[in-house]
Amino acid sequence: MILKRFIVGKISTNAYIIHDRHTLDAAVIDPGDNSKLLINYINKNNLNLTHIILTHHHYDHIGAVKDLKKEYNSDVLIHKKDLKGLKNPSINLSKQSNGKSISIDADKMVSNGSLIQIGNISLEVIHTPGHTKGGICLKAINQDIIFTGDTLFNDGIGRLDLPGGSEEDMINSIKNIISKWDNNIHVYPGHGNGDTMKNIRLQNEEYKYIIDRY
Ligand SMILES: [Zn+2]
Ligand SMILES: [Zn+2]
Repeated sequence: MILKRFIVGKISTNAYIIHDRHTLDAAVIDPGDNSKLLINYINKNNLNLTHIILTHHHYDHIGAVKDLKKEYNSDVLIHKKDLKGLKNPSINLSKQSNGKSISIDADKMVSNGSLIQIGNISLEVIHTPGHTKGGICLKAINQDIIFTGDTLFNDGIGRLDLPGGSEEDMINSIKNIISKWDNNIHVYPGHGNGDTMKNIRLQNEEYKYIIDRY
């Protein structure tokens, strides 16, 4: 699997393009903005963009979806509980963001355990509500890689005060799911640099607080 990170948009969101080096099938995770940059990379590498996968509905993760959909007609995937937010600019916060209002329809809904096939790459959907009701992480099967969206960062966790945010859900996601991940898993978050779970366990104060307290 080839993985490329792009830092896009006003609040520096990570968009990731992954592809199978043999089939050149590709997926983009959270194309938040800068569609031209993403399209340029896809075309330059002759990739076949089969999927546009969204870790959650917020505007800073979905801003380039329409352009990519128009260009490649790839399937747009999101968890069913964030479907409404994807359509509603007040919920996805595009209305409040001083940018263009964004309203998008998904092609496919995913839920916990769904498998997404991109060439020979398999991504498993892990439902981790807390930042939003339908927030997901994506684990690359047979590789120590998990994309965490705004659920987990190197140095913190996602905000809980936005529409759909829930402290109780986040505590459950961290205690029951994320805390079980191996130390050698490399986390690719929605903002900021990635790191291993080993280092996140050492350095992430918000994560540690939840683990210690609950
Ligand atoms: Zn978010
Ligand atoms: Zn974000």
